[in-house]
Amino acid sequence: MIDRKMCKFCGKELQGRSDKIYCDVHCKSSYHYKRSLEGKPTFYNKVDKQLKLNRRILKSFNKAGKTTVRATVLLRQGFSPKFFTHYWKNGRGDVYLFVYEYGFLKKTENGRDKYVLVQWQDYMDM
Ligand SMILES: [Zn+2]
Repeated sequence: MIDRKMCKFCGKELQGRSDKIYCDVHCKSSYHYKRSLEGKPTFYNKVDKQLKLNRRILKSFNKAGKTTVRATVLLRQGFSPKFFTHYWKNGRGDVYLFVYEYGFLKKTENGRDKYVLVQWQDYMDM
């Protein structure tokens, strides 16, 4: 039985040498171009990745349930305050932004930007 091989890009049956993968250089470069487009992260992937990173950073700095960290410390780790999942407003009107169960509130103390880190509590119910 003769093993007929198809071009990896256009699917046409290949002629000639048995080790060929593409019809010609055009099919070869088109295949690689298509692959490079498919490999690009989508908007969803980027947001998803940033949310996961934010959560991991907040979790690692918030072992006690509530703490205050300098903004630069979080930002240096790759934290991006623009990406969060929801918010909670307390009685004083402070809006805590949450990344899943980990929340943060920006405040300035002695001219330094800080984040108050909290964990989601049942009473914050959405
Ligand atoms: Zn081809």
